[in-house]
Amino acid sequence: MNTVFLSIGTNIGQREENIAAAIMEIEAGAGHVRAMSGVYETEPWEMNTAASFLNMAVKIETLLSPHSLLETLLDIETRMGRMRHGQGYFPRIIDIDILFFDNQIINDKHLTVPHPLISYRRFVLEPLACIAPLFIHPVIGKPVKSLLESCTDKHAVRKTGITL
Ligand code: AMP
Repeated sequence: MNTVFLSIGTNIGQREENIAAAIMEIEAGAGHVRAMSGVYETEPWEMNTAASFLNMAVKIETLLSPHSLLETLLDIETRMGRMRHGQGYFPRIIDIDILFFDNQIINDKHLTVPHPLISYRRFVLEPLACIAPLFIHPVIGKPVKSLLESCTDKHAVRKTGITL
């Protein structure tokens, strides 16, 4: 069984419903959800939009391989109506990223694990630190909570009272 941490985000439409639907789809097809962070309202990161995001992190256990999991998550995004606009960051109904896959390090044209931007993104680190503060980043060699302490990202990240 593989332990995986995912980041989920949305800034279009009924954001709370989008997050809840993504979690149901993950549970149905990707793996068993073992832990969920709170839901955070976050300022768009490197994106030309005023529409703020809801973000959260989840821990799953899965028998899927990393690439099968990626395919499954991309399929969930597509079925939920995700449009792709080429390179760059655009508003999205749902985005699901693989942050960590056990302690694996993967770098190929389809998949980079750990996700390369974890340590630069407060909107990823804050929720992740709720459910995995002591998980050691297998490339950087530091626990998530110290990555959060040293993160210089100034984009606003606020925990909401939303319960799923
Ligand atoms: P985006 O949805 O904009 O985050 O980009 C999705 C694309 O990023 C996919 O087509 C994947 O092939 C690629 N990708 C590379 N590494 C990852 C990762 N760790 N998690 C999710 N997608 C990844």
